Amino acid sequence: MSMTDTLTHSTEAHSGAGAPLEKIALETYVPLAKPSLIGLSRAEISDALGGIGVAPAQRKMRVQQLWHWIYVRGAQNFADMTSISKEMRSTLEAHFTVARPEVVAEQISSDGTRKWLLRLPSGDSVEKAHEVECVYIPETDRGTLCVSSQVGCTLTCSFCHTGTQRLVRNLTAGEIVGQIMVARDRLNDWADRETPTGSRLVTNVVMMGMGEPLYNFEAVRDALLIVSDNEGIGISRRRITLSTSGVVPNIARTGDEIGVMLAISLHAVRDELRDELVPLNRKYPIAELLQACRDYPGSSNARRITFEYVMLKGVNDSLDDARLLVKLLKGIHAKINLIPFNPWPGTRYECSDWDQIEKFSEYIFNAGYSSPVRTPRGRDILAACGQLKSETEKLSARERQALRAMAMTD
Ligand code: SAH
Ligand code: SF4
Repeated sequence: MSMTDTLTHSTEAHSGAGAPLEKIALETYVPLAKPSLIGLSRAEISDALGGIGVAPAQRKMRVQQLWHWIYVRGAQNFADMTSISKEMRSTLEAHFTVARPEVVAEQISSDGTRKWLLRLPSGDSVEKAHEVECVYIPETDRGTLCVSSQVGCTLTCSFCHTGTQRLVRNLTAGEIVGQIMVARDRLNDWADRETPTGSRLVTNVVMMGMGEPLYNFEAVRDALLIVSDNEGIGISRRRITLSTSGVVPNIARTGDEIGVMLAISLHAVRDELRDELVPLNRKYPIAELLQACRDYPGSSNARRITFEYVMLKGVNDSLDDARLLVKLLKGIHAKINLIPFNPWPGTRYECSDWDQIEKFSEYIFNAGYSSPVRTPRGRDILAACGQLKSETEKLSARERQALRAMAMTD
């Protein structure tokens, strides 16, 4: 779906009654006067250079130089790009930027998780700019960045706080790549800078922040192709996971055109319940979704699809549910990721009791599936799954201003 498309397909395929599957039209994105080169493909950078009079014979070399400075070295302005002639640098400066989304707040959890609040230009002249969040989760053997694909989400999963947000806009490819750039900037994690371990800190990317990535397919694809480009940021496709609530028509495209690991937000094993938890199920029910998983290009024993399952007390956490889950996943190269429900103000759900989560997990494990329970990270800064955006909505204007000032003096 392109940036300017409006979602009008919200209700046509409903089989059940109830709340609409999607809530509002998407806002449109208005390009900046002086565009950032971040998020453009090599061909697009080449065209942009053509547009400012760079001779065709020079363009390939300039693109290579720019790509290296932007995506390997993390240059934040053209002046630092010392292998490019001074004259060329000032021409570039006059027409473009290498700007990332603006960091308005940074929060660090007691467990080392970091959350950045990023401000993006708003499309129409709405009273305030849009904001998204992006979360860095350090672990002993990896560092995972949880990236957003939309401001808010048009879908309305009943247990997800992002789904309650009113404003929605698709992010551009540049804004998606920009989140990884911001994390590398803030963590001092570019190629020529010292890191404590000598290796990179951001090693993995999960498209599990705000938004439904497969409702912003082209931008997500273009961004992930840049992130996995091995002459640039170089995070391999096997270390990138895209999570979807089940936009069936775009699942095969994800395998074919992006080639990243797939995660499915399943959460329920019967259509009746899934219709309620993940309303998109009314359009693409479980059987269709699982068929798309069976057919997922590139899935194998070594490249399993992750099935996410949020543990909701008394709703989907019985051993009958576990049994049916195992039965449904037969024949799919699958692993199961149990997510303890993260509550948010006003939610009607509770997290399952720990002993129930353990029983559920044990059943799945005994049936031959790896079934790690996802440890909630960054709870003290509301950075856990499904909680994004809640903190900022709760802060007063004064608190927000203080956070902003903090981020700027840092
Ligand atoms: N829109 C995509 C990706 C973002 S959500 C999707 O739905 O897959 C990332 C994961 O967090 C999804 O599995 C989502 O269902 C889950 N999630 C949402 N709200 C949650 C909550 N309050 N507690 C635990 N997990 C939640
Ligand atoms: Fe959107 Fe995913 Fe939240 Fe559902 S769970 S409302 S698809 S972000």
